[in-house]
Parts: sequence; structure tokens; C-alpha cells
Amino acid sequence: METRTGSPTLIQTDQTHLIHPLHHPADHQAPVVLVQGDGVMLRDADGREYIDGLSSLWNVNAGHGRRELAEAAATQMQRLAFTSAYVGLTNEPAVRLAERLPGLAYSNMSGVYFTTGGAESNETAFKLARFHWRRRGMPSKIKIIARYHGYHGVTMAAMSATGIPAFHKMFAPTVPGFVHIVPSYPYRYAGSMAEALEEAILREGPDTVAAFIAEPVLGAGGVIPPTPDYFPRIREICDRHQVLFIADEIITGFGRTGRWFALGHWGVQPDLVTFAKGVTSAYLPLGGVIVSRDVHQTILDAPVTERFMHAATYSGHPTCCAVALRNLDIIEREGLAGRATVVGARLLAGLQTLRDLPRVGDVRGLGLMCGIELVEDKATKAPALGLGARILAEARKRGMISRMRAGQGGDYPIGDTVCVAPPLIVTETQVDRIVEILRESITTVTA
Ligand code: PMP
Repeated sequence: METRTGSPTLIQTDQTHLIHPLHHPADHQAPVVLVQGDGVMLRDADGREYIDGLSSLWNVNAGHGRRELAEAAATQMQRLAFTSAYVGLTNEPAVRLAERLPGLAYSNMSGVYFTTGGAESNETAFKLARFHWRRRGMPSKIKIIARYHGYHGVTMAAMSATGIPAFHKMFAPTVPGFVHIVPSYPYRYAGSMAEALEEAILREGPDTVAAFIAEPVLGAGGVIPPTPDYFPRIREICDRHQVLFIADEIITGFGRTGRWFALGHWGVQPDLVTFAKGVTSAYLPLGGVIVSRDVHQTILDAPVTERFMHAATYSGHPTCCAVALRNLDIIEREGLAGRATVVGARLLAGLQTLRDLPRVGDVRGLGLMCGIELVEDKATKAPALGLGARILAEARKRGMISRMRAGQGGDYPIGDTVCVAPPLIVTETQVDRIVEILRESITTVTA
């Protein structure tokens, strides 16, 4: 099998045919060919081992190489790999998963629509919000308010909600009706930023706004946890103006922050929860939207002529749902959300010690979701741009793979932010090693 990194054939074929996410040929001159995963560790075709510092894409929550998940897929595939969940048809794994998820999320939740990924879940949530208000006699409520630095995927509407300009640059214009506000931010803007939502709703007109979308902890935009008063105030503002609150829990769901879903940290319930990634620990693609009783009732009450005319071939895919059910068993049985709290606290404390390094501007996190923001200069907090990639290259040499938020200047500056979010089964020894690798890598690059 031509899988060795040394084999020019596989890499040349990659370069000739495979278009990667965020593709640029410069990134694929000497790609790492990963061939095996076991727990927190990845192995490449040359036998080198790496800590999976980001649970691959924040999604392998239960770790790699779980035979149990492979068996759940094989069993379901042999019985009935796929069947449609369209009009009049259903299947047991989808039903059982839809029964289980609302209870794990928030006590006001009752229904689930399944997708196959994050962006599709957010697209669905935006359409659900429009559907809800149209059915409730308020068809002018169509706009979506999102946040700068937010990441919600990159299909057309999801890209338009995403508040990172680099994702718009080559694809503009974005879809009309998306508005951005500032997030709650730990140090660069003083005080709570929740008022920015109310200002935007009033400016746009409450009768035009369908929903507000936010990640409980901003992820790909640079790991930015909120101030504790932020989401309670967001909830009040949404209620005051009849705006649905969509929690994008595509990273924060399934134990990542130390709870099944994250808004419970601040005692807040959203109207819609979008999820993907950790629901199957990435063993198969699955996502969806968990909806409140109120929104669910809107769907159930619609006459045939105004039905929820939204769909996808793989909505309620039995094999993906069977794997998700088994993955939930694992998270529950092994207490992985609790592990995220305990080991996450140790990881964050370890990373905080890096603040003594000259270019480390901020260290933040919640559970097993942490970020190290780099600055040019600690006094001015001028964002470091380009440093993160060099640090990650050093970390890779030392046996850890992760990713970063590329920094930006302008009105909402942020420095390159190295993201750290290992699988929830990571051990104390492994988190200590992550901190050590990052210290060595940052020191080497900034020496
Ligand atoms: N929302 C959030 C918070 C995400 O982190 C991501 C993916 N990183 C998405 C949405 C998009 O998910 P997908 O790549 O599966 O479309």
C-alpha cells in the first residue's frame, strides 16, 4: 500500500487530485499522512507519533480507535445501513437518539432534526427561525444577528453568519440579512458586550430580526469564553424583543467544556441548539438541531400547505445515529464531561504558566477547550500575525498536532491564537506534556 510519507506517489497524487479544505498548494508540499489513531495519539506513515492536540477538529471527544463504535456501525450496516426518514418512514436509531438528546441538552427542549455536519445544522436553524416567525404571524422577522470572530461554517448562509472576514474575502457578497456584533471579550473591550445585541436589534428593527446565534465559548475564532453575566443578559434581550437564541454548540456540546452542553454554566437555556462533531466523536458524520418545545410546537401545528419543507437525504441516517447512541453511552459511562472539568483545569493552569513568555498575550479556556493568544508586544497588545503557524510547526516536530486562529488587525483585532482541545480521555501526564511542548515551541520560535 502506498501510504508511507516517503512515497512520492501518494503525495503527488494528493497534489494532483485532492482539493483540501482551505486549500492552498503551499500547505501540501510535505503533508503528514496519518494512518492510525489510538486514544489521544495519532501515528503517521513513517511511524512518528503525535498527541492529537485538537481532538482532530474539536470532534474526537471519546478518543481514537474505539472498537465499540466500529462495531456499532458494523452491526447497524449489516442490519440496515440506510433508510430514508422522509414522509411516513422512520428507523429506530434515529428515534432513540432524538428521544435522548433533548434531555441531555436543556429542560425546555423536545425535538431534534438531524443533519450531517455543522454548517448544515446552522443553515437549518436559520430556516427554522424564519419558519417559526412566519407561522406565528411575523413573516418580516428574517434577519440573523451573529458575532465578530464567530465561526458557524462556510456554506452560503453559515459563511454569512461567520464573523471572520478571511472566510468572506473571495466569496463576497454574503447573503443579505446577516448582522454582526462584538462578542464578550476578556480584555480588549471593557464591560459586558451584551448591550451590543440590543443596539443591533433596535437599529435593525425588532420586527425584522429572527434570531441571534452564538457559540457559548467562541471556538475557531480564538477560544473566547464569555464573562459570566453575558449569556443571562443575552437571554433577557432576546426575550424582550422576541428573538430566538441559537446556541451553536458544535464544539461545546458532548462534554467539551465540562458539561453535556455549555450554557448550563451560566444557567441559560437557548431556543435552538446546533450540534455536530462530538455527537459521534467523529466516527461518522452527524449533526442536527435540538429545538425547544415552543419551536417544536410550531412545526407540529403547521397545516400541510405550510409544512416544514426542509430536508436532506441523510437526515436521520440509521448508521450514524447508531454510532452516536453508542458514543453517548461511552461519554456517560466514562464520565467524560467530568474528566473535561478536572483535566481541563490542569491544562489551563499549565498553559497559564506560559504567560511569562514575552509573546504570550493571553491564555483562556473552559474545560478542555483552551487558547493561547500571541501578541507582538505585551504592553500594546498588538496582535501577532504569522507567529502561530511557526509555533505549530515546532510543536509538530515535538510530537503534537493542533491548529490556530489566524490573527487579524483592524477594528476587531486578535493575535494568532493556538488552540488546544485534546480528546476528553487525555491523561494528566499528557496535558503536562502538551504544556511542555508548547513552552519549548514558543521559546524556540521567539528566541
Ligand atoms: N460551528 C462551529 C462552532 C464550528 O466549530 C464548526 C466547525 N469547526 C462549524 C459550525 C461548522 O461545522 P462543519 O465544518 O461540520 O460544517
